[in-house]
Amino acid sequence: MAKRIDGKAVAASVRAQVAEEAAALKERGICPGLAVVIVGDDPASRTYVNNKKKACAETGIYSEEYALPASTTQEELMALVEKLNRKEEIHGILVQSPLPKGLDEKAVIEAINPAKDVDAFHPENVGRIMIGNFHFLPCTPAGVIELIRSQGIEIAGKNCVVVGRSNIVGKPMAMLLLHNNGTVTICHSRTRNLKEICASADILVAAVGKPKFITEDMVKPGAVVIDVGMDRDENGKLCGDVDFAHVEPKAGYITPVPGGVGPMTIAMLLKNTITAAKLQNGAEL
Ligand code: NAP
Repeated sequence: MAKRIDGKAVAASVRAQVAEEAAALKERGICPGLAVVIVGDDPASRTYVNNKKKACAETGIYSEEYALPASTTQEELMALVEKLNRKEEIHGILVQSPLPKGLDEKAVIEAINPAKDVDAFHPENVGRIMIGNFHFLPCTPAGVIELIRSQGIEIAGKNCVVVGRSNIVGKPMAMLLLHNNGTVTICHSRTRNLKEICASADILVAAVGKPKFITEDMVKPGAVVIDVGMDRDENGKLCGDVDFAHVEPKAGYITPVPGGVGPMTIAMLLKNTITAAKLQNGAEL
């Protein structure tokens, strides 16, 4: 039976560290600040934004919310980003995705000052991650690495398989595993022999967006199985990309959904905000 990796507990320890660092920065007159921009009324986005604001308050990070109507124009949104780029109290800017139809998300991300890009989605930060000279790591993949490390699991030399190649999860996830000296394979919808490739993984990361997609026959006995998915099952209940009930008895380690990768994403966002505040104040990282 796999050991369950408790994302809530690992996230709590990251948050405690963030709170300590925030307090230390405040003693030096620096109050780390995050601006969260939400456009439209997508209920899932509203929940994420509320959780991010609450997490800031709990760790001593100053936050500002900018809630704009769905009718916001590209020019208005770009003007807000420009204003936040210049605002001294704000060290991190997060524009909650998805943006309503008609708004160009790529242009908005590119307009964010890379030093304030706490999501690490700006092309400059993406490039920095590629060459291994980064300030920020994208929150979800960085959270996965923390979860693996929290168990004392060695990544170096392991066969790592990432299913999914999105810019926000799959690709950076693969890059971070590579930085940690894993031997990495990236799978996607055109991959042949997916089952065999997954079954060769010592560390398997699922970021597909399909409920219970990773079945027991795709998992090597004893493997570390990390489930990034946030899906709904046939009854509308939150579940992951991994068929947890059948994979858990076979894997060595497994993350549950909820309570696995999810809590780590916000914890890493807070950590990036602290890094941004240090960067902009010339403090040591
Ligand atoms: P995405 O942009 O839709 O990407 C999904 C990836 O899965 C694509 O690369 C796609 O391949 C691949 N895929 C789809 N069907 C496949 C198949 N049959 N076989 C192999 N690969 C297949 O999704 P995402 O944004 O990366 O998110 C993935 C999941 O993670 C979602 O459930 C999302 O809600 C969740 N998520 C969770 C967090 C968190 O904090 N826990 C954060 C972000 C995302 P192609 O490229 O070939 O189309």
